[in-house]
Amino acid sequence: MPVERKHCQCQDTQFHFLERAFESLHLEAAQRELLLSAFRETTVSIPLRPHHADGGELQTFMGYRVQHNHARGPFKGGLRFHPSVNLGELRALAQLMTWKTALVDIPFGGAKGGIAVDTSQLSEHALEILTKRFTQKMAPVFGVHQDIPAPDIGTNPQVMAWILEEYSKNHGYTPAIVTGKPIELGGSAGRLESTGHGVAYITEKVASEMSMPLKGASIVIQGFGNVGFHTAQHLAAMGAHIIALSDAHNGVVCETGIDIQHAQRHVSETGWLEDLPGCEPVSNAELLELPCDILIPAAIEATINCDNVEAIKARLVVEAANIPVTHLADTILRERGITVVPDLLANAGGVLASYYEWVQNLQEFPWEKETVMLRLEQRLNRVYEQVRDLARERNTDLRTAAYELAISRVNQAILLRGF
Ligand code: NAD
Repeated sequence: MPVERKHCQCQDTQFHFLERAFESLHLEAAQRELLLSAFRETTVSIPLRPHHADGGELQTFMGYRVQHNHARGPFKGGLRFHPSVNLGELRALAQLMTWKTALVDIPFGGAKGGIAVDTSQLSEHALEILTKRFTQKMAPVFGVHQDIPAPDIGTNPQVMAWILEEYSKNHGYTPAIVTGKPIELGGSAGRLESTGHGVAYITEKVASEMSMPLKGASIVIQGFGNVGFHTAQHLAAMGAHIIALSDAHNGVVCETGIDIQHAQRHVSETGWLEDLPGCEPVSNAELLELPCDILIPAAIEATINCDNVEAIKARLVVEAANIPVTHLADTILRERGITVVPDLLANAGGVLASYYEWVQNLQEFPWEKETVMLRLEQRLNRVYEQVRDLARERNTDLRTAAYELAISRVNQAILLRGF
């Protein structure tokens, strides 16, 4: 069953990446076990009549929140609304958030949650009710200093606004309960584009150190949602040629470079990239194997795996999505001399901007967009240099160095606080 395979692959991958770093840090088995265990996992059932107006059937949706570790601060992580959502996948993604927040050195832990639902089958009204019922049931484990959700696949600022509203009914107006919300409700300038902006920023840094100027570089991006679109937009503005893009249906390719604004308009009008004028069709599988300088998976987990890794032709792979490369594929990419920028570094711009949003909400004092972007770039630059320098010092890859830095910070916080 495809969902089960993905679920196992995702957890296995995370486990193998961590094992490499654990070995290098000489952590004992008991410490490893503690670092791997989730603090709390909450499962709720949400009854809904999605098509109530038509006298539709009652359906029960399953909602989850995995809170992995909060040694360094409140749990932080996205909510995913997607049919494949399951506890195994969320465990791996929640852990990844713990390492990501530690790597960029912000006072948060890691969590992930969501609902197993195909939102394309729900009306806007049904989605609002589903989100609010989920929030009612999760309210005991959410909190401004306890657990702060954010958008992920299938959720957006509107979904965050519904959570804010539902939570505020019992707690008073509480904008800091979620990040990634609309600016009108205390969202931060720059949050929407922050993940893609960060991906583009880090891509430029790594490419220039590989003597590969972005101007004229050919780039393939899988996924054209929040992260894929903003990444493409920023890289195109830096002079790169985005030669192929895709969404859950299919991809499009144009050797001379795709006009990103044009592609975005086409998607808003038709719903998909398919039939984008001036482009040829390409499947998602073919897209990953196209000749290019840089490949950016920005969709879902495990899209680069044992089935296609030998056919990857890029010199640089930047993980805009979470866990898009399986551990076996990662080993093969390394053996083939292809540089991989790991997710916890590449897409950390999103959680950094979320942190800035939370700080602005607590201060009740919004910052200018320039302040947000400047702080984002300065922090990403510092983190990238720390990871790169450690990788050079230890003669290891960027991923292992990033995990080492993150794990040692979380471990230190646990030891200082005691059990
Ligand atoms: P999104 O829902 O806005 O977009 C997802 C895109 O991927 C869409 O274009 C969708 O059509 C496409 N897609 C879905 N299934 C696909 C498949 N099987 N093959 C190819 N394309 C597929 O989600 P997003 O917020 O852009 O998130 C994308 C990735 O980035 C996820 O892995 C997410 O966890 C990660 N991420 C997001 C953020 C953020 O701030 N949104 C931050 C860090 C990491």
